[in-house]
Amino acid sequence: MSRAAAYVNLSAIAHNISVIKQQTKKPLLAVVKADAYGHGLIPVAKAAKAAGADWLGTALLEEALALRGAKIDGPIIAWLTPLGEDFVAALKNQIDLSVSSIELLNEILQVARQIKIKPRLHVELDTGMTRGGVRDDLDKFLAELVKVKQEFELVGLWTHFAQADEPAKTFTQLQFQKFTQMSELFHQVGLVPQIKHFSNSAASINFKDLSQDLIRWGIGMYGLSPDVINMGNSKKLGLQPAMKLICKLHLVKTVAAGAQVGYGGIGKVNRDTKIAVVNMGYADGIPRISSNKAGVFVAGKRAPLLGRVSMDQFVVDLGNDSNAKTGDEVIVFGDGAAGEYTVDDWAEAANTINYEIVTRIGVRVPRIYVHE
Ligand SMILES: *Cc1c(COP(=O)(O)O)cnc(C)c1O
Repeated sequence: MSRAAAYVNLSAIAHNISVIKQQTKKPLLAVVKADAYGHGLIPVAKAAKAAGADWLGTALLEEALALRGAKIDGPIIAWLTPLGEDFVAALKNQIDLSVSSIELLNEILQVARQIKIKPRLHVELDTGMTRGGVRDDLDKFLAELVKVKQEFELVGLWTHFAQADEPAKTFTQLQFQKFTQMSELFHQVGLVPQIKHFSNSAASINFKDLSQDLIRWGIGMYGLSPDVINMGNSKKLGLQPAMKLICKLHLVKTVAAGAQVGYGGIGKVNRDTKIAVVNMGYADGIPRISSNKAGVFVAGKRAPLLGRVSMDQFVVDLGNDSNAKTGDEVIVFGDGAAGEYTVDDWAEAANTINYEIVTRIGVRVPRIYVHE
């Protein structure tokens, strides 16, 4: 390893798929958007398929096309394709698409007529997330769909939950009821979907019994908890974090009490100590505002962050008795088994969620695939 690396344990991905498959006994869509949450699109997608994932799901069309480019077959859906996207490529590559606007529906159908390929569509229903999906305009949307019903295959109806991670179950149940009511309207006009799907990781864990044909397993597949506070951490959920971030100590040195560290001088050294410069920064996805609740693990102990993170480096407090040396390899985060900081620790230190930590690990950090 030269400077830094993100080790991605593909056996952990497989383990996390088998955990939820055993619990839900449902077909599983592996969510691999955003470069597989920063873990690497193609290797993760292949590992997920090998571990029994039935579907793959991406946000963007280019992500779905990259999967086909890597000769990955089976059903793939891209659910966030804007107007003007390359729908010729989408249809030729059998990418399922999601629609919730008449504009997008018409654009896809226009392309479909030209190249004579029947699109495989999923309709997104807004049942309370109030983000994507059809809601109050459903009647109008249904009327449009009915007009062109011979021209597409209605593969799926789907929705997304807003609060499935929280202990109060009422809102998710309301969303489920709304989904059932809205689906009923499709059936009434003869639009019968092949499948219905709505559970993200949190709902897959907390609402195992909801009747559906497919679960969408995202953060859980990467071994991270959908909500550490309400649902507990990876360990509690029986999940194995897949990513371990490693880098090096660029420099170890002694500083006297009273030194200030980094931009703005907000890091204060209140005793004589050893510090280390760590060779990663916010350009690599280390959040600039992280507090000393995170840091690195080196020479058998935690060394907390001191001061602001810079673009390519940050400083940690090793403590006076540390044996760490310039050039030592350090763990920025791992599964915590050896005492190292976890993705969840970094998320807490940066006042965010584990999703944001892993998806932002930058392109300068090579991903190295292992089976451990
Ligand atoms: C990202 C995403 C998921 C996965 O969510 P997790 O919380 O990571 O499981 C599922 N469905 C849709 C539509 C998504 O955009």
